[in-house]
Amino acid sequence: MILTHTIDFSSAATSFCFHASLEKLKELAPPQNSFILTDENLMLHYQQAFKPWKVIVVPAGEAAKNLDTLDDVIRQLIALDAGRDATLVGVGGGVVTDVAGFAAGVYKRGIRCGFVPSSILAMVDAAVGGKNGLDIGEYKNMIGLVRQPDFILYDYSLLDTLPEEEWVNGFAEIIKHACIGDEAMFRQLQQHQLQDFRTDRDLLDALIRKNALFKAGVVQRDEQEKGERKLLNFGHTLGHAIENAYGLPHGHAVSVGMVFAAKVSAAVTGFGQAQEVRALLEQYGLSVHWDFDPLKAWQLMQADKKRQGDQISYILLNAIGEGCVHALAPAALKEFLAS
Ligand code: NAD
Repeated sequence: MILTHTIDFSSAATSFCFHASLEKLKELAPPQNSFILTDENLMLHYQQAFKPWKVIVVPAGEAAKNLDTLDDVIRQLIALDAGRDATLVGVGGGVVTDVAGFAAGVYKRGIRCGFVPSSILAMVDAAVGGKNGLDIGEYKNMIGLVRQPDFILYDYSLLDTLPEEEWVNGFAEIIKHACIGDEAMFRQLQQHQLQDFRTDRDLLDALIRKNALFKAGVVQRDEQEKGERKLLNFGHTLGHAIENAYGLPHGHAVSVGMVFAAKVSAAVTGFGQAQEVRALLEQYGLSVHWDFDPLKAWQLMQADKKRQGDQISYILLNAIGEGCVHALAPAALKEFLAS
């Protein structure tokens, strides 16, 4: 049964349609005036299902999340004669939802946009909250828009083709949510294995819903990222620095970033459960260590968007389920990285 949940953000409302299917998409985005944006992997698996819509295909993977791809998408929208009343639907992982959200936000100064996230990461994170970023070289999400999608449709059957490593990747963001704001979820995750969520759709549905609405709630309470929303960056400052520099998958990079932030928390807030965070990440197959160059990482972190003046807003933990924001001086950060 489809469960629809509408969240009102200050600029627009987003309908979350859980347990839905591409059939339902025909109602939300009528094929005669809607365009699917997807990547080549999804196209390979779902060409038949996408048949009713005109489809724009971008290359798969992070390397495509850039201005060249945006240029190509805009040119295809022009060639397909998409009007200002058209809807662009991103069907794919976080790369596709970011590119689709960005393209819909700028094409003809903005057309309607919806998402059908197809990876765990996109379902619980990338598709939710209205941020749509593109990379500039190795600088992640250096340009972007904040614009809420009209709808997010969840079709769990798409996960049948999601590669195992992408399941692992997505659980980094789920563990992040548990660390910063939901101790009960942290304990639930400790009691399960990834395989349980892969095989039990009801268990998965409950987890996806909880996480998507968790993020939406944080964004709703702090759209301008003045306070609580910053917590969603837990693990991401170092994560982003090493992700593109070392070609690490997003989830693994964020996981290494969370282990680092948990260690820094031990020194700064007296957080005493860093070992539990590390163990849970390992339990879900995530990397907990990467042999990165501390100086290079530090330099990349200086370009981080969360930098204010000469301080970096760093997300730490007071306890499991309780994140906090701390301003760290570059010199202190450099020292933590070196150690
Ligand atoms: P992705 O979009 O690159 O997808 C990962 C891989 O899985 C790709 O090869 C893709 O083709 C494949 N794939 C996805 N769904 C599939 C399916 N159902 N079947 C078969 N293959 C499938 O990466 P991702 O991990 O989904 O997202 C990462 C991106 O999301 C990063 O660029 C990150 O910056 C962005 N992100 C954005 C936000 C935001 O708020 N906008 C938040 C978090 C992450």
